Amino acid sequence: MERCHLVNGRQKNVVIIGGGPGGYESALVAAQLGAQVTVIEQTGLGGAAVLTDCVPSKTLIATSDFMSRFASAGRLGVGFEGTDEDQHAQAHAKQVNERILGLAEAQSRDIRAQLESVGVRIKNGRGRIAGPGRVTAELTGGGTEELIADVILLAVGCTPRVMDTAIPDGERILTWQQIYDLTELPEKLIVVGSGVTGAELAHAYLGLGCDVTLVSSRDRVLPGEDADAATVIENVFRRRGMKVLNRSRMAAARREGDEVVVTLEDGREVRGSHVLLAVGSVPLTDDIGLDKAGVEVTRSGHIPVDRVSRTSAQGVYAAGDCTGVLPLASVAAMQGRIAMAHSLGDAVAPLNLRGVCANIFTDPEIATVGYSQADVEEGRIEARVVTLPLSTNPRAKMRNITDGFVKLFVRPGSTTIIGGVVVAPQASELIYPIGLAVQNRLTVDQVASTFSVYPSMTGSIAEAARRLHEAEI
Ligand SMILES: Cc1cc2nc3c(=O)[nH]c(=O)nc-3n(C[C@H](O)[C@H](O)[C@H](O)COP(=O)(O)OP(=O)(O)OC[C@H]3O[C@@H](n4cnc5c(N)ncnc54)[C@H](O)[C@@H]3O)c2cc1C
Repeated sequence: MERCHLVNGRQKNVVIIGGGPGGYESALVAAQLGAQVTVIEQTGLGGAAVLTDCVPSKTLIATSDFMSRFASAGRLGVGFEGTDEDQHAQAHAKQVNERILGLAEAQSRDIRAQLESVGVRIKNGRGRIAGPGRVTAELTGGGTEELIADVILLAVGCTPRVMDTAIPDGERILTWQQIYDLTELPEKLIVVGSGVTGAELAHAYLGLGCDVTLVSSRDRVLPGEDADAATVIENVFRRRGMKVLNRSRMAAARREGDEVVVTLEDGREVRGSHVLLAVGSVPLTDDIGLDKAGVEVTRSGHIPVDRVSRTSAQGVYAAGDCTGVLPLASVAAMQGRIAMAHSLGDAVAPLNLRGVCANIFTDPEIATVGYSQADVEEGRIEARVVTLPLSTNPRAKMRNITDGFVKLFVRPGSTTIIGGVVVAPQASELIYPIGLAVQNRLTVDQVASTFSVYPSMTGSIAEAARRLHEAEI
């Protein structure tokens, strides 16, 4: 139902800077709530999420997963008849990348059409706050437009961090936004950074048949994740032939003819054909007029917000990666929706990060929700924990799945499920029942007594809940 929010007899003006998930989802909500909405976007609708980061990387991973299934076909009794002994599936970089970019552009077009269909005005260009309630758009085609805004939403996102000693050239020294322009697969790829982006892309290229070295500054890959899950992934990486260099921090990267040389801080050198830099992101908050409206900014350049996405300045909200809250498309979109509901007077529930389901798209995937093992170990919450390896799950055996587990965290006393980890192929599809349990404070017995399909991977979630009942929490 459309409601109309009037200021002195006119519709409220909402101006959104940035058309990624934080921006475009907000625009849809604001239009539904009856506001006059303008989105200013300098690159393309859908933002980095759709055009360079989330969508392209997951599409690349879909191809890589497909290749991995070929590689394991023999173990399920499948051979390729009439072929040479050494025949194997091969990925063609040009076709793979064309498909990825085509898919991203199509999704961007869909978002534009969806926004236009609900009456959102789109300005192609760069937005900047000009003063309280005023935004200017420097239009891509030339000229400037000044917009009056009752509500401003900043959803400008982030860009890859670049080090002075390793400047990307788009050919062999690459950020994750430049890899889709390659026409051939890297022969010897060095991935620097073993956080989520580094781990996902290192594994994707390994699956595509590249020789991959992962340079990780920490003791293990995925340092911010569940330690058991990260250990499974690191073991899988090594077993499949990836070279993982732990406690190895990059000092510099340079080109030497057709080679790249990565120098580590201890003086060692790693040579390859290409290097992919995944060493973090920086917010795009420079020169967007934050000072003109009195919007506070942290030393890292992030815009602090409260749980309804308000910044320090009245009428100015922020959503997504530029807030530094949690760099996920789903969180950006939720922050944006909350901002619009709050500013336009609709019912609003403040952001609750405990209910966020997150996933790392390696193979197996790591999906998490709610409290973590680190929260328990560092005393932030008291919980009983049960971990069930997938090797005992009948469906996993049928599918030749050997790596992975289900882990549940339960609050003693109330016996409610407060968190979980799933390490499995397509864990992203398996975390939702645990997410429902966490969000709705279900008890272990409620989960244990819910039917699961036999045989199924979700059977392990019900089984883990039964184990917790037996443990008499
Ligand atoms: C490799 C990679 C993979 C990822 N995979 C996932 C995933 O699988 N799932 C997930 O949930 N998250 C994923 N993420 C995170 C996700 O991409 C971000 O959380 C999400 O993009 C944040 O959305 P946003 O709207 O804040 O910013 P963005 O998507 O970055 O959009 C911001 C937009 O603002 C525009 N902009 C900036 N400044 C201005 C200005 N002054 N004027 C006009 N326009 C401007 C930019 O051009 C951009 O289009 C991934 C990130 C990376 C790096």
